[in-house]
Amino acid sequence: MRLTRHFLPVMKESPADAQIVSHKLMLRAGLVRQTAAGIYAWLPLGHRVLRKIEQVVREEQDRAGAIELLMPTLQPADLWRQSGRYDAYGPEMLRITDRHDREMLFGPTNEEMITAIFRDAARSYRDLPRTLYHIQWKFRDEVRPRFGVMRGREFLMKDAYSFDLDEAGARHSYNRMFVAYLRTYARLGLRAIPMQADTGPIGGDLSHEFIVLAPTGESDVFYHTNWEADRALDVDADDAEALQTFVSGLTADYAATDEKRDEAREAAAGDALKQSRGIEVGHIFFFGTKYSAAMGMKVQGPDGTDVVPQMGSYGIGVSRLVGAIIEASHDDKGIVWPEAVAPYKVGLINMRADDAACTAAADDLYAKLTAAGVETLYDDRDERGGAKFATMDLIGLPWQLVIGPKGLANGVVELKNRATGEKTELSPDAALARLS
Ligand code: ATP
Ligand code: MG
Ligand code: MG
Ligand code: MG
Repeated sequence: MRLTRHFLPVMKESPADAQIVSHKLMLRAGLVRQTAAGIYAWLPLGHRVLRKIEQVVREEQDRAGAIELLMPTLQPADLWRQSGRYDAYGPEMLRITDRHDREMLFGPTNEEMITAIFRDAARSYRDLPRTLYHIQWKFRDEVRPRFGVMRGREFLMKDAYSFDLDEAGARHSYNRMFVAYLRTYARLGLRAIPMQADTGPIGGDLSHEFIVLAPTGESDVFYHTNWEADRALDVDADDAEALQTFVSGLTADYAATDEKRDEAREAAAGDALKQSRGIEVGHIFFFGTKYSAAMGMKVQGPDGTDVVPQMGSYGIGVSRLVGAIIEASHDDKGIVWPEAVAPYKVGLINMRADDAACTAAADDLYAKLTAAGVETLYDDRDERGGAKFATMDLIGLPWQLVIGPKGLANGVVELKNRATGEKTELSPDAALARLS
């Protein structure tokens, strides 16, 4: 993409209303614009990042055996009356009336809808287990939307729902998601710690929040220092027993949010216990028959008697992750995107758009990179080199490829790694080979 044809409204100054670094950088780098409190338009660069995160999430859900569908954002109130949550949900729910005076709502989550859809189709134990998911916009009328997309009112969530015949099966489904989540965050360049979280009235130990440590996070968290190292995630998720052993091994290291602190386990951790702030980037939850029973879902079991399925739900904050990744990966010049989610892999800088030879060489490299399938943002503007460098550093593409008249005279271009700052001079062909 040529910058002269792009829509990339960057800002030099930090907007006054942005309090945390990710929010500032998202506005400055032209990723989003607020259109109403807690509601954002995703500008082209931000949209590319959002789609990349979404794709990583999707691939790991698919790998875990979950099946994608797409449910609508608007839901009828009657659905929520079946579970009893319509009145219970409170002011976070945006309630809407249509022209026929039917009560509707903008979905804050989808337990009711998925239960109704699956209930009306599933007949027997052969239809189970199943985990269904979608990636769809949610609306929660947060009392204090803040920190940009981190706590928006409209936000993109991946939510999955599992249906099993019995609790042992549900635990297996839960463990599958547990590992899928760790894989997802690792691919996004994040270390997210699964923390024991509140299960509400159901009890048990099957609720974890996945938390990225960050001083600006809204959760208070406590964890064993073992969580500061990378974890190997090679386990056969189809083998329920092996998977349980693996998950139990991981959770043997203490990690809990402030609602679920455990004095004995904290004492056992001793000096290895740490306290921090963190960002909730995901939450998995087993809730048994709460919705299936309330909404009259049952299937015929292997022995012919009716079974009420055991359910769990599993959320990832896709749009919140954009902010969380920036919180975890930036410097004083701007964003440093992990390659997996970068809007483009390479920023190609023509230092002298007014120099015919320089422009010819840059155009040529751009054409070759594009032909090789390398996602390239080409700064072909007639601007000072300094301004171009500043923009590239701000938007944080992993590689900068700089073409200037001096280097060209010696047959070289410069390749800079955004994360390390390391610069290498090499021939245009060698640069092309390195990047493709
Ligand atoms: P929080 O504690 O931050 O309010 P939550 O516990 O209410 O989040 P869940 O119902 O567990 O959220 O939803 C699943 C995921 O959706 C969360 O882990 C989070 O990543 C994301 N999420 C929730 N609320 C928002 C929001 N207002 N803006 C952006 N992402 C959100
Ligand atoms: Mg909330
Ligand atoms: Mg929460
Ligand atoms: Mg939660």
